[in-house]
Amino acid sequence: MKRQKVTALCLALLLALLPLRGTALALEAASAKEKDFSVQQAKAERLSQLGLFLGEENGDFDLSRAPTRAEALVMLIRLLGCEKQALEAAYPCPFADVPVWAAPYVGFGLERGLTRGVSETRFGMGEADCAMYLTFVLRALGYSDAEGDFVWTDPFALARQSGILPQGTDTARFLRADVVSVSYAALSARLKGEDRTLAQRLVGQGVLKELELTGLSWEPDPNGTRLEILFFDVGQADAALLRCDGQTMLIDGGNAADSSLLYTYLKEEGIGRLDCVVCTHPHEDHAGGLAGALNAAQAGLALASAEHAEERAFLNFLKYLGQQGVSVTVPAPGDRLFLGGAQVQVLGPLREQNESNNNSLVLRVSFGETSFLFTGDAEREEEQDLLDSGFALESTLLKVGHHGSDTSTSYAFLRAVAPQAAVISAGAGNPYGHPSQAVLSRLRDAGTSLYRTDLQGWIRCVSDGKSLVFETEREAKELFSGIGQNSAGAGEAINPSNGQKEADYVVNLNTGKFHLPSCPSARSIRQENRLEFFGTREELLALRFVPCGTCKP
Ligand SMILES: [Zn+2]
Ligand SMILES: [Zn+2]
Repeated sequence: MKRQKVTALCLALLLALLPLRGTALALEAASAKEKDFSVQQAKAERLSQLGLFLGEENGDFDLSRAPTRAEALVMLIRLLGCEKQALEAAYPCPFADVPVWAAPYVGFGLERGLTRGVSETRFGMGEADCAMYLTFVLRALGYSDAEGDFVWTDPFALARQSGILPQGTDTARFLRADVVSVSYAALSARLKGEDRTLAQRLVGQGVLKELELTGLSWEPDPNGTRLEILFFDVGQADAALLRCDGQTMLIDGGNAADSSLLYTYLKEEGIGRLDCVVCTHPHEDHAGGLAGALNAAQAGLALASAEHAEERAFLNFLKYLGQQGVSVTVPAPGDRLFLGGAQVQVLGPLREQNESNNNSLVLRVSFGETSFLFTGDAEREEEQDLLDSGFALESTLLKVGHHGSDTSTSYAFLRAVAPQAAVISAGAGNPYGHPSQAVLSRLRDAGTSLYRTDLQGWIRCVSDGKSLVFETEREAKELFSGIGQNSAGAGEAINPSNGQKEADYVVNLNTGKFHLPSCPSARSIRQENRLEFFGTREELLALRFVPCGTCKP
């Protein structure tokens, strides 16, 4: 009896589920049909950043519809960096069916032999098909169907051979997304009978800058692009490895003694190529370990703040680069390059200063909505130059300048950067007292989450373009209580340089109690145990400090 009931119930359930299941299957089929344009979207954005592609007025690239013949031609002319020229030249357009906006492009296309009409009087305003766009691009690369390089009805074989027909291009139903794929591939395609690529010709024409070619041959990860930054634990030094879509960039290499650490890491990770190697400035604690990295991996591009320097570490860096046939590039402020889906902009140095630290290369890496500022050992003077430059400094993460020295991370600079997170690379118990109490206090004041290699070992930060996730070698419960133990400035009173503010609380590092600044007990704390705390009561409680029973903070 009981059993029957169960069976009947099961049957009822099954019947109830059947139509639902049918609906779910139908939905699945529909979403499988719906194409995923994320890769083309990423490429369209990159082309647009380079000024070689333009979306709709609302900033949407509208990749899911077919391009008209006129649109395809406009996209090609833009890709060739000739839009301004086309509009200025205003060659006559003999076709009656071409709208006014498209006439200069069609006129230019005719003049350059990139396109023809469908008849003497009609250009043909219908949709462009794949063969047509490939024909446009092949002609732009210097091939001629008139001279028999290919037949315009069948440009596919030559297109494949030239690398402008990437896998996944829909040759049957050609969409704007496919225009993007073909256009992007065309940048790396060689011109007919030349060693140069289309992108290199664009550099020659001043449309693109040489540095912008770094990271151009790029395939976005179809499962979603991520930017990963590893801050090595190199003691009192700096080294960070950035990875995005399989491309890599090393910013500084630590001390010469860290060479083997970098060598081993790159070997173990199978990284045989560093698309970009950066030496922020020639000091040993930044340039020293680059030799190890260059022993493990071939550099694509090498950036430094100057071509020459006397420091041994830098000469070594040059020596290993020389062996790889790479010379140093000194970028200018405003220059940019790419690392997978991330963009790297050079912000400084803005002028030559006497002190090496203040000639540090400053790089801002942006990825989706997140950004990362690397300032080398830049001090107040260079920070001021950056503030004066008008560059956007705001960044999600600040790699704190000069190992947390009080000479850097000035209030004004920190206010402009407004980082959510900060990383300090410093050696435990280093003789310089880095990071300084004052900088720690300024960072805390700014509400920044702090990570420190001296306390936590290596630090890995991963961005999905929206938010950051951190992982560290060691958990550091002492992250904040470590303040004062580490710094030569232990016990020094922290006076914000702008003098605006008294500390929120005073902590006795010896007893673990915290007080209101007005509490009589606070005044009697011995200097070496005293910490002026800028922050909230909750933060102190989270750090296991105990409120004073007298002033009840
Ligand atoms: Zn330095
Ligand atoms: Zn340094």
